[in-house]
Amino acid sequence: MGNAVGTGLLCGADSFCTIYGHLECEAEYRIQYFTFLNAGSHGEYGGEAARSIYQARLQSVSQFVSEQGISPIPVDSNISELLQMKHQLTHTVRNVACALNLQKLLRNYYYASAYRFDSFQLTEQDSAYYDLPTLSMLSTESTVFYSAVSRYTRVEKVEIISGFEPTYRYLHVCNSLSSTSVVRNCSVCDKCMRTLVTLELLRKLRLYDRVFDIDAYTLKRNRYLAQALLIRRMDQFSGEIVDLIRRRKCRISPIVYLYCVPVGVELLAKKLLRMMQEGPRPMRVVAATLLAFYRSVRRLARRSVDRDT
Ligand SMILES: [Zn+2]
Repeated sequence: MGNAVGTGLLCGADSFCTIYGHLECEAEYRIQYFTFLNAGSHGEYGGEAARSIYQARLQSVSQFVSEQGISPIPVDSNISELLQMKHQLTHTVRNVACALNLQKLLRNYYYASAYRFDSFQLTEQDSAYYDLPTLSMLSTESTVFYSAVSRYTRVEKVEIISGFEPTYRYLHVCNSLSSTSVVRNCSVCDKCMRTLVTLELLRKLRLYDRVFDIDAYTLKRNRYLAQALLIRRMDQFSGEIVDLIRRRKCRISPIVYLYCVPVGVELLAKKLLRMMQEGPRPMRVVAATLLAFYRSVRRLARRSVDRDT
């Protein structure tokens, strides 16, 4: 039976927080192996496109792996082709299935948690919400799976990793890779934006100018902050960002409040769209009418702006 310690290497905030916390600890818990898995995170339905992204990402992390002197274990799996399910619903089981092939080597395996333990819920949205019991049930007499860094919020994880220099060169939080096949952060998607806003509030933004396009982010920041203010009670990560703004006593620009109007209308339009698809027939008719009205107004507004400029 092996006695080694491993964790998955994804180079996101959760993954780096797990790694950083287990490099200088007791030998029994110190990371000796990074697994790099093709089990859905590079394309949830698998296939050659996902495999080529997996290989490109593997190449992009090779420098970090050699700097740390930790052995990589790439695992190329066809589980996604067989499963044909959304990655977010099943990632815990997929990744653990790969790691279970290494039971003769690994005694302890850290699975980076996406949410703090008190966010636990049994939901179809994301298997990360109930990692704790899943990992416990999937542990065997040979390998124990731990839900790592589940005591931290997302903001706390970003703050912790901002003290780990390799993240300035290797942090990769973006989901847009799957559609572009390019190994870089897009700097404008929700995952990039929430990380960048947090870094800016922590006054660490400039440290990350090699892995993010700071100018592209700056153009979208006020709009994103307006969205965070509007959905802070429904979205955990937005709530954390608004809390951070309050704790740090940061001033919110009046432009952010102005953005709340178009962003609020857009969020309402999206909600209507969902009602159209899921609600009862009378609701769908009302929603379709309101949405058509909103789209006409938006079209007219855009034409008017184009004419003026
Ligand atoms: Zn992105």
